Formats: sequence, C-alpha cells, structure tokens
Amino acid sequence: MPSAFITGITGQDGSYLQEMLAGKGYEVHGWPSADCDITEPDMLRVALQQSQPDEIYHLAAQTHVGESAQVEAQTMAVNFQGTKNLLVTAQHETPNAKIFFASSSEIFGRPGEVPQTETTPLNPINPYGVSKARATEAVRAARAAGFYAVNGILYNHESPRRGPNFVTQKICQAAAAIARGEQSELRIGDTSAARDWCDARDVIRGMWLALQADDPDDYIFASGQTHTVQDVIEIAFETAKLDWRSHVEIDKSLFRGTEPRQLVGTPAKARAVLGWELQTSFRELIEEMTQEAEGPQATRAQ
Ligand code: GDP
Repeated sequence: MPSAFITGITGQDGSYLQEMLAGKGYEVHGWPSADCDITEPDMLRVALQQSQPDEIYHLAAQTHVGESAQVEAQTMAVNFQGTKNLLVTAQHETPNAKIFFASSSEIFGRPGEVPQTETTPLNPINPYGVSKARATEAVRAARAAGFYAVNGILYNHESPRRGPNFVTQKICQAAAAIARGEQSELRIGDTSAARDWCDARDVIRGMWLALQADDPDDYIFASGQTHTVQDVIEIAFETAKLDWRSHVEIDKSLFRGTEPRQLVGTPAKARAVLGWELQTSFRELIEEMTQEAEGPQATRAQ
C-alpha cells in the first residue's frame, strides 16, 4: 500500500487530495492546515519517520497577506523556511519520497508575458508571492541536487469547500442567501477583476499525476482562460434564479490597490506530459458552488 503525507490536509485542497488518495488505496497521513509546525525540524522528522511516505504533498501555507511586518515575517517563515525545512528533513529521512510543492501564480506577480509558462521569470509583487517564489526556487534546487521534487504552479482554484472570503464563494453564497430571503444584497469590489479559475478537484488530480511521472519537473495547473468577477456574478445569480441587477452593490472600499494584472497560465505542458485535462468548466463550477450553497448546511460569507 503506498503511503502519502500531506501538509495542510484540512484545507480545501488537502481534504480533496486525502479523499482521492484514500480512494486509490493509499495510506494517508497529514498535518492540519497552515501552522508554524512546518518550521519545526524535530516535529517534522518524527512525522516523516512514522509515516514513511512514498509521496509528500506540501500544501500548508500562510495565505493571509497583511500590511504588518509581523504577518510578513510569518508568511516568510511558514511558506519559505517551512518549505526549506520540509525539503531538508525529507531528503534526510525519506530520500526516496517524491515531493510535490503547491506553488502559486503569485510568483509571477506582474508577469512579463501572457499567458505564463513554466519558464516565465519570477516577479513577485507581494509578500505572499515573494515567499512562494523563494520556496519554488528551493524546490528547483533540490531537484537539481537529484531529489524528486516538483513545483505545481497553481492558479486560482475553487470548489464548494472554498473559504467564504474568496470572491467566488462570497458571490455564490450571497446569491443562495438572497434567494432564501436571508440577505438582500451583495456588496462587491471590482467586478472587472479577472482571474484564471479552475476546479480544485481538477487541480488535485494534477498534483497526483505530477508525482506519477518518471522524472520530476514543474507544471502549471491552470485553465488557460480568464473570467471576470462579473462573469461569476451572472452565473451564480442565474443559477439562483435571480436578476443580479437588483441585488449587486459596488463597494469602493472592497477595491484592491494593485494595478490590473494578467495572471493566466498555459496548461500545455501538463496536458502533453501528464495527460491532464480539465473535467469541469468554469460555468459548471460556479453553478455547483451556488447549488451547494443553496443547501441547508450553507454558511454565509462575511
Ligand atoms: P485572490 O486571487 O487570491 O486574491 O482571490 P480572491 O477570490 O480573493 O479575489 C479574486 C479577485 O476578485 C481579486 O482581483 C479581487 O480584487 C476581486 N474582488 C472583487 N470584489 C471582491 C470581494 O468583494 N472580495 C474578494 N475577496 N475579492 C474581490
């Protein structure tokens, strides 16, 4: 029975990955979502010794990017030093384990080319992007030193398990709550903002495929298409059988200060080398998220 160790196992991606691997017959071990333990060599050593993984999926990260120096320091500690720590400890304790690192489109920051590929230069523009860029380079260095280490460069990926403060889930949950009569309007920021969104379950399948290849490499997991926040609104409200024009209020305080950026990835390499194909379209994803939010268990976005 193959064994896997997942950091960030309770997050959106970790929970789906755990279920997928268990379904494939893996023995799955893991640590809960982003906490500083990943920076503790002793704890990590014990966890790897106990689980003896064939595959390590490093998903835990500090994703909250605040203004304060304290948050910046913690972002760097978890996302960069934590990843270095994992690489060094795994190379020592389980040198034959294959390692997948969840890198991010934020490593490209304000990108020099559109769409981005695996060779687009790193140009991060926020602390989260800087921490992920340095960790991505550390993974490449481990690979150059002969270890099986892979960067999955992940663009925005969503699902019914997405946290309520991300814009897709905020919109889908608001549409459902308005349809139930529990909320009257959706206050939203820049509706022209565009992202390359795909389904989280497609992305975690890509993670697994990446570790089944003979040789380690870097792969972009993206749809190759951008949609706007406005597109999300129109699909979600249509699914909830509502006219978005009657319920959506633009709130300037929710606009972000950064310039428009064109983060869109080309999935050509993952498709060619791994046979990775998207199984769910953007429209199907937003429809499903809205329908799930319409269920009785839905929690409301802030
Ligand atoms: P991000 O790519 O990790 O920042 O993912 P988000 O889902 O938080 O945001 C995606 C895009 O939606 C960004 O360009 C935001 O500026 C835009 N956006 C517009 N209105 C909102 C809003 O009310 N909440 C959030 N979270 N994002 C919004």
